[in-house]
Amino acid sequence: MNARRLRVHGQVQGVGFRPFVWRLASEHSLAGWVRNDGSGVEISVSGEESAMDSFFERLTLESPALSRIDRIESDEDFPAPEMQGFSVLPSGNSPIATHIPPDVSVCEECLHELFDHHSRRYLHPFINCTHCGPRYTLTDRLPYDRKHTSMAKFAMCEQCAAEYEDPSDRRFHAQPTCCPECGPKLSFLDDEGREVQGDAVRIALEWIGQGKILAVKGVGGFHLVCDAKNLEAISRLRAAKSREEKPFAVMFANCASISKYAEMSASEKSLLESRERPVVLLRKKNELPGVADDVAEIGAMLPYAPLHYLLFHEAAGRPSGTSWLDSPQELVLVATSANSGGEPIAISNEEAMAMGIAEGFLLHDRDILVRADDSVMRVSGKSPGFLRRGRGYVPVPVKLPASAPAILALGGFYKNTVCITRGDEAFVSQHVGDLDNASCCAMLEETVFRMIDFLGVTPEFVASDLHPDFHGTRFAREFASSRGIPHLGVQHHHAHVAAVMAEHGLTSPAIGLALDGTGLGNDGGLWGGELLLVGPEGFSRAGHFRELSLPGGDRASREPWRMAASALHALGREDLVSERYGTSGKALFGMIDKGLNSPQTSSAGRLFDAAAGLLGVCEKMGYEGQAAMRLQMLATLHGEIPALESGFSIENGVLDFLPLLFVLAMEKDAMRGAALFHSTLIAALSEWVLAERKKTGIHDVVFSGGCFLNTVLSSGLRRRLMDSGMKVFEASKLPPNDGGISLGQCYVVMQKGVGSCV
Ligand code: ZN
Ligand code: ZN
Ligand code: FE
Repeated sequence: MNARRLRVHGQVQGVGFRPFVWRLASEHSLAGWVRNDGSGVEISVSGEESAMDSFFERLTLESPALSRIDRIESDEDFPAPEMQGFSVLPSGNSPIATHIPPDVSVCEECLHELFDHHSRRYLHPFINCTHCGPRYTLTDRLPYDRKHTSMAKFAMCEQCAAEYEDPSDRRFHAQPTCCPECGPKLSFLDDEGREVQGDAVRIALEWIGQGKILAVKGVGGFHLVCDAKNLEAISRLRAAKSREEKPFAVMFANCASISKYAEMSASEKSLLESRERPVVLLRKKNELPGVADDVAEIGAMLPYAPLHYLLFHEAAGRPSGTSWLDSPQELVLVATSANSGGEPIAISNEEAMAMGIAEGFLLHDRDILVRADDSVMRVSGKSPGFLRRGRGYVPVPVKLPASAPAILALGGFYKNTVCITRGDEAFVSQHVGDLDNASCCAMLEETVFRMIDFLGVTPEFVASDLHPDFHGTRFAREFASSRGIPHLGVQHHHAHVAAVMAEHGLTSPAIGLALDGTGLGNDGGLWGGELLLVGPEGFSRAGHFRELSLPGGDRASREPWRMAASALHALGREDLVSERYGTSGKALFGMIDKGLNSPQTSSAGRLFDAAAGLLGVCEKMGYEGQAAMRLQMLATLHGEIPALESGFSIENGVLDFLPLLFVLAMEKDAMRGAALFHSTLIAALSEWVLAERKKTGIHDVVFSGGCFLNTVLSSGLRRRLMDSGMKVFEASKLPPNDGGISLGQCYVVMQKGVGSCV
């Protein structure tokens, strides 16, 4: 007889790992036990040598769908336990060092039960099993046990308890398991908070049909929902949300229903159908008026909570079985995060009601404990990338190339996330939001303490942006001083580049190309079009875009005509301003000349704005990035065009696009202009990077910064640099925009070590 004790590390709790071990051990007639503990799953087995070998092999090969094994520790000289059979023991009590899985969509088997008249969970909105359902957003702390989730208050009925205790059942130790008998209940409330009697799903669908706006309780928060084919409802939703132009995400019953409205490649389809269920940006075919006007893409997603499926099922006339899900369905829903004015997504029934936007509420009494917006992704080439990372992906860690003491990083200002390291793993939080309002600042703090708690770490270093006034920086300062630990400010674009280096485990120096909005530079300037040399010791600024004035500061970031006027001023063509923008521009030029609220910036984002303003495609923006998105759309419509070789110059590392901007100012065809802008940008950036390679001999280049969300730019530049023998590294596990900064901040501290912290 052989005996062994194993410790399995990774994502092995809450994913059906113990029943899997139990089944495997039973099949091989092995004796022993399995249990959850603070570091993962512990297994003790004994039996015939050949049976043991096969058991170990299948343990890694056949592990459950949602699990991820990082490492197995094995202790071979273990005395054989004197026990018969194999059992699942209660959780151990060692310190917390394990993972909690992200939330995933309802699985196929559960869907079949959901629409099966004979199932006791027929139409049960909270159906789930060990292979599916909410996890992270309903868990309070580790280890992942029902008593630490928001299901704790629902006592299981006899039948559910029997399934929960039966290792051969799909719901063995499925923590959120329940049934209509014992689980949470749906309700429907009107805008005065009065319960409307009847079937909540049926009423919700009736109200949607009448053009009403509903708040629907989802997985990581509420959605505001309305009929995507009702322009009047959409307009009311826009007015209520103060969101005049920014596209809304749309939920379709299935991919067959999407085909009418958008194009879909095989990789886009599989991303849409993946259990993470992100919003995927697709190329539009037909309009849903008011949903995503004036942009080339539409954000589509499929149902992921059973409740979403029930709405589509009701609309389809309650067919039995799941075959209706193969054919196109009429119902299309706007489903946008329930928040107002950039505040965090609402998670409690009270928050949803207090917003004063929805006219009806589809609610239930299972609490959401963690806010997590839908993730937003796009497929570029064949690889998916993030625009926003949230539900479905948090809290999956990024593996670092080495272990480090625990570091807490507070991220940037816009699209804030925070990051905490534990050993060689970096846990980046879900999207928190822009820190320009008190509620998002509060969510930042809530997120920090929750993560510290559930990871069971004590940060030894704190990192933040260099900017002294960001809420994250202030928080970092106070956190560090109250605990007597070091605090390091990390330059914004250094962090951008380091984030991508962390993802790829790069430890030797690389050329970093940061094309971004603005961030505070080491010299106090506003950087944003940067060529950096980044290594473990830190970074140096090898080059930057020629600076332009930002007349009006923040206003210039929202009003591209100001950047256009600034470019014309730099070109000595102030005369063109009055005929184009209905103002003489005198006041504006006065500001620039006197240096009043007109900082200089090397921002690449503002260069896009200037180009858009000069081509007349966007004078004022309804939402961030709109000008660049329009330019990209026009360039795509036009098709590729040769670069304007005389459109730029490079001198002492300074890349100057003024000649190109002048040509754009004279260009009458906006589509042609947009195409010329992109091709010239690509040619210039490539020359810039290759000159740096010549100087340094470095062949690794890192793309980072929000401008790389522009796929015409990223794919064109990638191709060109790869053809020239460069190795290109891009963001894939996190967005290239400010959502990734916190990871970069951690990586900088980790690489520089203790001595650098001030
Ligand atoms: Zn399931
Ligand atoms: Zn039950
Ligand atoms: Fe940035």
